[in-house]
Amino acid sequence: MKILKRSGAEEIFDITKITAAIQKANNTVQAYDKMTRQQILAISQHIEEYCSHMTRALSVEEIQDMVEEEIMKQGAYNVAKNYIKYRYKRAMVRKSNTTDEQILSLLEFDNEEVKQENSNKNPAINSVQRDYMAGEVSKDITRRFLLPDDVLEAHEKGIIHFHDADYFAQHMHNCCLVNLEDMLQNGTVISETMIEKPHSFSTACNIATQSIAQIASSQYGGQSITLSHLAPFVQTSREKYLREVREELAEQGVNASEEEIRGIAESRVRREIRQGVQMIQYQVITLMTTNGQAPFVTVFMYLDEVPEGRTRDDLALIIEEMLHQRIKGVKNEKGIYITPAFPKLIYVLEEDNITPGSKYWDLTVLAAKCTAKRMVPDYISEKIMKKLKEGNCYTCMGCRSFLTVYRDENGKEKFYGRFNQGVVTLNLVDVACSSGGDLELFYKILDERLNLCYKALMCRHNRLKGTPSDVAPILWQYGALARLKKGEKIDKLLYNGYSTISLGYAGLCECTRYMTGKSHTDPSATPFALDVMERLNAACRIWADETTIAFSLYGTPLESTTYKFAKCLQKRFGIIEGVTDKNYITNSYHVHVTEDINAFDKLTFEAQFQRLSPGGAISYVEVPNMQNNIPAVLSVMQHIYDNIMYAELNTKSDYCQVCGFDGEICIVEDDGKLVWECPNCGNRDENKMNVARRTCGYIGTQFWNQGRTQEIRDRVMHLSGVRKAL
Ligand SMILES: [Zn+2]
Repeated sequence: MKILKRSGAEEIFDITKITAAIQKANNTVQAYDKMTRQQILAISQHIEEYCSHMTRALSVEEIQDMVEEEIMKQGAYNVAKNYIKYRYKRAMVRKSNTTDEQILSLLEFDNEEVKQENSNKNPAINSVQRDYMAGEVSKDITRRFLLPDDVLEAHEKGIIHFHDADYFAQHMHNCCLVNLEDMLQNGTVISETMIEKPHSFSTACNIATQSIAQIASSQYGGQSITLSHLAPFVQTSREKYLREVREELAEQGVNASEEEIRGIAESRVRREIRQGVQMIQYQVITLMTTNGQAPFVTVFMYLDEVPEGRTRDDLALIIEEMLHQRIKGVKNEKGIYITPAFPKLIYVLEEDNITPGSKYWDLTVLAAKCTAKRMVPDYISEKIMKKLKEGNCYTCMGCRSFLTVYRDENGKEKFYGRFNQGVVTLNLVDVACSSGGDLELFYKILDERLNLCYKALMCRHNRLKGTPSDVAPILWQYGALARLKKGEKIDKLLYNGYSTISLGYAGLCECTRYMTGKSHTDPSATPFALDVMERLNAACRIWADETTIAFSLYGTPLESTTYKFAKCLQKRFGIIEGVTDKNYITNSYHVHVTEDINAFDKLTFEAQFQRLSPGGAISYVEVPNMQNNIPAVLSVMQHIYDNIMYAELNTKSDYCQVCGFDGEICIVEDDGKLVWECPNCGNRDENKMNVARRTCGYIGTQFWNQGRTQEIRDRVMHLSGVRKAL
């Protein structure tokens, strides 16, 4: 059994330390106030027992809270008083500098929390450590200077979560849709070097990846590009090859028919598409940005985004190549093909690709095979999205954050070149538990907490206000997001719906369980859950009207924060069955991971909540290895097309480097801690296995904290009972 020290390092639980600390406080009081040796031992034994029942390491703070409480239960108030005094004095000493210990422990690779903070970063690497050091300083400055006390206190108690404090000291935004079209068609500037309109598809792909790297270093969230912006360059290459082939054959004195010339040129075009797509795939994973990780990139694949005819057929060729290469995977250090985390792929289901016999059906079948093998692409239903987004279909920024519809001065819809200002997430479970189950009180507390979120979100907005375009030339001056002048402030892009700002929410499931005693899937409890969502939306509308900033409700992809929220809830309210008894809380509106529900029902049920989450959300279904059951994958995709805007399938394909096992690596308990184990050879060394799981919309491959690991272990399959029926 382990405990978590303040520095973040893990240590073996040692009962004698607790006994000694109580004994020390006991020694400071008069004889008649003293506890007996038996009382002291009883307290430490009680705490040991409590800790051993937790499936995570408790922090020193949590243990000290328990000690305080137990001493008081023994009626030894003076001992408790002196124990508290001692703690307070120690806390004061520590407060004088909050970052030193954190930074030292992460440099010595001794910080468990940092190790599992982000499943896409490897904290042993120098550049990642530099990023984390900067992050610690930013968090410290945020804490001490930038946030008002009430926001900070709510953040520290887990009532709300002020995201990305590790980047807040700088004037940076969250995520965006890259306007690759503007950059490619009108030229751009990368690292003070002029880049003109490319003359071939492969050059266009090269510029795209260079831009992706620069953009990733200028913001902290995800970015999305669309293959549609690359598609016109296939024809540029084709024309070039036609010219070349004609010239070459003439030089050699070969007499070839027009058909033969076109045939040769076309095979060169295909080769170039293959190379261009490979460049994007490999560069995106191998690039290490200044954030210490591969760029969080989403690639959008939407046939209807370009005009019918040659361009659309060329786009189909690029999509096909993208899927083929993803199915193959990328080689790990041992040369084995594995599932890469990036880029994330999104495929749009539409009329001409969703039914057998439709023009692009074969592409959809290929997408299904890719999902079965590599977890991506994820799926957007054009039909449902058009209903929800005023007749438009467009990609999310990064993993799930959706823009609202915006029209430029000519009344034309514009999506690429827009961005999100940032996120603050409300912990709905805490609102419920704080109300004690009283509905009237619940809504009163909800309103108070929403005001706090508003205040926190305005801190984010104000941090961006006044930012000069010079902080990130590629974003603000050279077309990725805008074409502002040097020295010009970005302010006009913050208002009137050009960019959005996100009110996140988490734990609707546990919140509803606490308030109604039932799951939100129970028809008698669903109306309450929907009502909570309506109220969150209403708050966003009021704020948007007041400020002309596009506030939008967002199903937060909680990564490490799910663990933080769960720990805070246990600390504030103790263990409440079905509400605070896990080391995670459920993301957004999702059905609890342990609830038995089939894939089709889950997607249909969650669709009504996705409609109420306009700032972003994604639904998923957990499925076993589907590589031998592609028709079942296609059935789920057709169900998505008819019922829900945006969804994904969580398939499994892990790899054990010790024995070569290719399948699902499992989670087992080891001395109160959850660890990954190869079911074939028992290998538990995380450095000798490749595990890919989707935890927040992106695929993570660098392992997770204890809370998220427990959530992954608890996941039930949504596609086992229905397999026969398909
Ligand atoms: Zn193995």
